[in-house]
Amino acid sequence: MSADLMSAENAGERLAEFLAQGRVTLLTGAGVSTDSGIPDYRGPETARRARNPVRFQQFVTDSEWRQRYWSRSYLGWPNIRDKIPNACHHALQQLDQQGRVQGLITQNVDRLHAKAGHGGIELHGALAEVTCLSCGSLRPREQVQEQLRALNPDFQAKVLEWAPDGDAELPTQATAGFRVVSCTCGGHLKPHVVFFGESVPRDKVEQAYGWVEQSQGLLVVGSSLTVFSGFRFVKRAQACGIPVAILTLGKTRGDPLAALKLEAPAGPALAQAVQLLAGSGPRGDSESGAPESPPSPGANPGR
Ligand SMILES: [Zn+2]
Repeated sequence: MSADLMSAENAGERLAEFLAQGRVTLLTGAGVSTDSGIPDYRGPETARRARNPVRFQQFVTDSEWRQRYWSRSYLGWPNIRDKIPNACHHALQQLDQQGRVQGLITQNVDRLHAKAGHGGIELHGALAEVTCLSCGSLRPREQVQEQLRALNPDFQAKVLEWAPDGDAELPTQATAGFRVVSCTCGGHLKPHVVFFGESVPRDKVEQAYGWVEQSQGLLVVGSSLTVFSGFRFVKRAQACGIPVAILTLGKTRGDPLAALKLEAPAGPALAQAVQLLAGSGPRGDSESGAPESPPSPGANPGR
């Protein structure tokens, strides 16, 4: 753990100051979900557990890789499906309710922001959906799970380790004989997530850039910004003169570009900021409406 760890109170105050300057775009990573029990690929605690996940080309071209993926995912999926949002997801959703968020960009594929009632761009897709590589149709992951169960009623293997992408580490040889599901069109099914070696869809990237450019700040939470898919938004913010704040444990690739770097427990720090900001409107509005009632749909709150 870093020697720079701040108290949640201190970090919350600094965050509140940053957020009081105007609407922010949120960029979240695996660190947001660790308190929900989903391990982090690249966080300070888990760097030693770096794995070698299936790559897109392997999945598309090699039936053994698909068999391996789906057998592991068959065991790993319920572990992701049943996770619930934590204090961090709830606090970020509350910031949005306060009118302080331009948009939410997440690198996570666990759907936990959506479960907390907070919609946004799922940069890397979501494990809750499955796509067909031939016809492009989407279906719920749970539906595929039922089909896999019916095809493999006796499949059991000793899980060595749970992985954050809904994958499970299995002993080699354990996946032979596992029967995979195909689309009704005959195409191969793939989880609707961006694999290593695959690109984030361009329309998502453009929409996210638009949010960043319309914001008065970019707040990164729980991401080491190791992969370019997230780091590019920090670079775009910097290029536009938009200040960047990073709330993440451990060093990140964005630290040299950040106006504010906070190493503190994210959930309590964000909850503290939400509390400090409650009652003062975005962009310095005075509290004129009833503070407890959310704005009704269609109503344009007075400025
Ligand atoms: Zn299909």
